[in-house]
Amino acid sequence: MASGPETAGGVEAVSPLDAAQDQLRVASDFLGLDSGVRALLAQPRREVTVSVPLRHDDGHVSVFVGHRVQHNLDRGPAKGGVRFSPHVNLDEVRALAMWMTWKCALLNIPYGGAKGGVAVDPRQLSLAELERVTRRYTSELVGVIGPERDIPAPDIGTDEQTMAWMVDTISVDRGYTVPGAVTGKPIAIGGSPGRSIATSLGVVQIALAALWDRGIEPRHASAAVQGFGKVGRGVALQLHEAGVKVVAVSDQYGAIHNAAGLDIEAVATHVDLTGSVVDYPGGDPVEGHELLELDVDLLAPCAIEGVLTGANAHQVSAKIIVEGANGPTTPEADTILQDRGITVVPDILANAGGVVVSYFEWVQGNQAYWWTEREVETRLRSHMIGGWELVRAEAQRTSRTFRETATSIAVARVAEAHRVRGLYP
Ligand code: GLU
Repeated sequence: MASGPETAGGVEAVSPLDAAQDQLRVASDFLGLDSGVRALLAQPRREVTVSVPLRHDDGHVSVFVGHRVQHNLDRGPAKGGVRFSPHVNLDEVRALAMWMTWKCALLNIPYGGAKGGVAVDPRQLSLAELERVTRRYTSELVGVIGPERDIPAPDIGTDEQTMAWMVDTISVDRGYTVPGAVTGKPIAIGGSPGRSIATSLGVVQIALAALWDRGIEPRHASAAVQGFGKVGRGVALQLHEAGVKVVAVSDQYGAIHNAAGLDIEAVATHVDLTGSVVDYPGGDPVEGHELLELDVDLLAPCAIEGVLTGANAHQVSAKIIVEGANGPTTPEADTILQDRGITVVPDILANAGGVVVSYFEWVQGNQAYWWTEREVETRLRSHMIGGWELVRAEAQRTSRTFRETATSIAVARVAEAHRVRGLYP
């Protein structure tokens, strides 16, 4: 990967696309898929790369590159987030789109998978510049996105405001409001109650289930959480609320540790005031890679892909890893962690809460009928627990890892959808 993320220890990570292809290969072998179906699932169905020119506030113009990849459409419209990050590149977006296909299929929501991104650092732009980038990117994609085609949502570097600009741009183009075109919108324009915390809620629910499954009572458990953004912050807060001792958290600027447990609400207040976990007075600074190696019951990588690699998997001391991020574990690390008896709950199950509530938002928007936060949470919990029970039972039955099991369940569903639809012409 040319400019992809690095591991916390500074070691170049393997390409997420290689990792995704490897996981597909293992699942296809297990399922005995024929070469035609394998080739079909290994390739994105559709890819669009666009220039995103921006007139900066001072009048000069820069041009960024944007992508939207629709990996598969067999089970319904494509679904997946939009990422604004300088690391965005086409291979990364392809991998993330493929993972969305499996995630939606595993949770049995009626979508294919997609992902998009613009290779831009949103922190370098003013709000007005960010709005112009978002609107231009959306406008370039207006022919391929929409409620029946491809439904974007937030991801790294994007948020509710980004989604509001996207839905407005699409709606202005069409001449009427299209609430189902995008999910993760503000409540004021048809966002779903509970969407903003849905990914974290799902991660924590799966984490608690995984702890119980290994005979560890959550209130006697310790945890380390990598990332303090949209996913990691909520995960740390909800683990803390559930009585788990969160001993370390991190963000892109640094990591903090307190063996007696961090007061996560106080950390969150510190982040609101200073913009980072760094210098939080109730914890000691540690290196990012040390957080991944702490002797804890639960490690939740909730930042970027490729942080657990062949270079550091031998040092991981956690009993359970629950992947809040997409693709944090490389295939080499997966094998090492499996050999060392560490349970890895894969991204396509663990962090699916976000897209599940996106689905609820889309359903509500299409019907113009709104559910309460309680209804959303109850349905989310039943989807997540359903997914967990399915994967756990099947993993036990076939003596495979949770990742192999989850991926093969998802791939089988997509392959079956393709089989019954048939190949056109
Ligand atoms: N970006 C989130 C993910 O990776 C949510 C995608 C969505 O809601 O469409 O799962």
